[in-house]
Amino acid sequence: MLGQMMSMPLLTSSLLLHAESQHGDREIVTRRVEGDIHRMTYRDLGRRARQLASALVGRGVQPGRRVATLAWNTHRHMELYYAVSGMGSVLHTINPRLHADQVVYIADHAEDQVLFFDLTFLPLVEAIAGRVGTIRTFVAMTDRAHMPASKIDGLLCYEDLLAAEDDRFEWPEFSEEEAATLCYTSGTTGNPKGVLYSHRSTLLHTYAAALPDSLNCSARDTILPVVPMFHVNAWGLPYVACMVGAKLVFPGAGLDGKSLYELFEAEGVTLSAGVPTVWQGLLSHVAANDLRFSTMRRTVIGGSACPPAMIRSFQDEHGVQVIHAWGMTEMSPLGTVCALKARHDALTPDQRLAVQSTQGRAVFGVSMKIVDPDGRALPHDGAASGDLLVRGPWVVSRYFREEGPGPLVDGWFPTGDVARIDADGFMQITDRSKDVIKSGGEWIGSIDLENIAMAHPAVAMAACIAARHPKWDERPLLIVVRRPGMALSREELLAFYDGKIAKWWTPDDVVFVDSIPLGATGKMLKHKLREQYKDHELPAA
Ligand code: ADP
Repeated sequence: MLGQMMSMPLLTSSLLLHAESQHGDREIVTRRVEGDIHRMTYRDLGRRARQLASALVGRGVQPGRRVATLAWNTHRHMELYYAVSGMGSVLHTINPRLHADQVVYIADHAEDQVLFFDLTFLPLVEAIAGRVGTIRTFVAMTDRAHMPASKIDGLLCYEDLLAAEDDRFEWPEFSEEEAATLCYTSGTTGNPKGVLYSHRSTLLHTYAAALPDSLNCSARDTILPVVPMFHVNAWGLPYVACMVGAKLVFPGAGLDGKSLYELFEAEGVTLSAGVPTVWQGLLSHVAANDLRFSTMRRTVIGGSACPPAMIRSFQDEHGVQVIHAWGMTEMSPLGTVCALKARHDALTPDQRLAVQSTQGRAVFGVSMKIVDPDGRALPHDGAASGDLLVRGPWVVSRYFREEGPGPLVDGWFPTGDVARIDADGFMQITDRSKDVIKSGGEWIGSIDLENIAMAHPAVAMAACIAARHPKWDERPLLIVVRRPGMALSREELLAFYDGKIAKWWTPDDVVFVDSIPLGATGKMLKHKLREQYKDHELPAA
């Protein structure tokens, strides 16, 4: 027997309509790329998103087609989030820190039609404009007064586009299974892979993310997402903010400790979110200048493991509660949040810190299991460690336009993380089985770096692994076997990377060895190398 309740699709436009009607005068503040502070309300957001949708429909952007951005966290990016998905098209947020070749690959793979970009990224856009296959329209996210001189043919101005439209656009109703946004992540095979979020997955994720034992957001909060909007939808905060009616503060390009601290204080920020590297910059600034947070109450830390010393510094010195969270692009991204249970109140501060250093427990909607190399489930006893698999309504089922069987194993998504889970459900990542390197919260593809090294005439074999780094968490380390009789120095090999990748992808160090351990099928045994070089000291660290 079917239930008899209204069947209403879960669409992102409903979040915007709710924010407009229930929290219309709540503020959205942006430190603009142009340099000043911009203020508007959710009511303005609704109006401007409708104008933008009108402009895009008027330019022939059809439902399901991809609209790309290369942009910071700003109110205009927020308008694009709601306008593009709301009209039934797909917002594709591209990571501007990637090398131009990768941006071209991703934009072509996604078949993007329009590209919106912040002025900061004009040089990148000029480098790719003549090379991308499907983008016909380029829009600079600025006003007429700040339009740059550019070689890009027919470059459009964002504010002009909006000004030409009225705000009578009506958000269409369609299936909640339709795609809303697209985000590429570095796969283990070198080429980035697209994760295509649906309206339904996004809305369910939003409910889960807002809960008290998740990111704990309410109408009384002022949220400043430091995590970029090109990085898994800023961990869902642009949606959560509309759902709960929080004031939003966007930092634009100012992500250094000083800029962030000033914005936190000026706007009364209560909740923020970002990777450990960002918080390290902020904490150093605060310590060096003997400053205090007067309004900050909580901060979400994820993307890489949060060091216990950072938790202690935030909580004990500043009274800012750390919410340690784990997730991934393939999971929208929220998987676990480290929210303590009532019985943890009885723990000593050190015991509590140990619990808080784990990645936390699954939010409702995400199921987790750990398995041994034969795929057999391991106990959740806090001791057994195995490959971590997940499932849930906001977990990827297949990558965008990927042929073949897809990533799932018996309906579960293998995360590439190795973890243990205790009897309380708290998960702790112990290692990574995937080969990608995570530096300051951003991926570096180890296979790309190996391929470049292997292209050098003096290199016989090269493996790239992550080495620990105090600031960036992980940095690439190259293990290289030279060709017999050939000379090659560390500096010569590193110089070989110039221009072939984004500069920050360049390995930090090279170790020359006689051989690299291989498995039965001839594959390099990188876990052996990781074990062997786990204490390798990088020269710059
Ligand atoms: P995001 O960085 O936005 O969470 P990515 O897809 O770029 O998403 O990275 C996901 C991977 O980052 C995870 O599979 C895991 O290896 C690592 N990661 C994310 N959060 C944590 C965390 N809290 N502790 C340890 N590793 C983490």
